[in-house]
Amino acid sequence: MIVYTLKCVEEHQFESWFKDSGAFDEQAASGKLMCPVCMTSKVEKAPMAPALKGSVGERSSAPEELRKARQFMTGLRKYVEANADYVGPKFAEEARKIHYGETEERQIYGEATIDEAKDLIDEGVDVAPLPPDLSETN
Ligand SMILES: [Zn+2]
Repeated sequence: MIVYTLKCVEEHQFESWFKDSGAFDEQAASGKLMCPVCMTSKVEKAPMAPALKGSVGERSSAPEELRKARQFMTGLRKYVEANADYVGPKFAEEARKIHYGETEERQIYGEATIDEAKDLIDEGVDVAPLPPDLSETN
């Protein structure tokens, strides 16, 4: 199977599956292809590489986006490290104390298991996973 992004004369884009590229030519020539939006049969392939089923999503990743995401995560981590108290494995305990007003309110970070984090969220404690420090990797 092959999927083509098609475009009608009104610029509506839609995807359609074909047995092979010949099937597209056949259907287009016989006027069987129709835009689902405006029902015109004046449809052509949009200028885009066709994707074979199974390889969708395996196109080369965008390094620029990855780099930005990594920068963002590293920046977030650095912010937290600079502004929050590290409480290590006592994170769940401390977060709970802060939440219930048993200790001074402050930003903390540390280690918690998935179960601990889930319990905290269930109790309404505002927790978020800290992104890993990726600044060393390239
Ligand atoms: Zn259309």
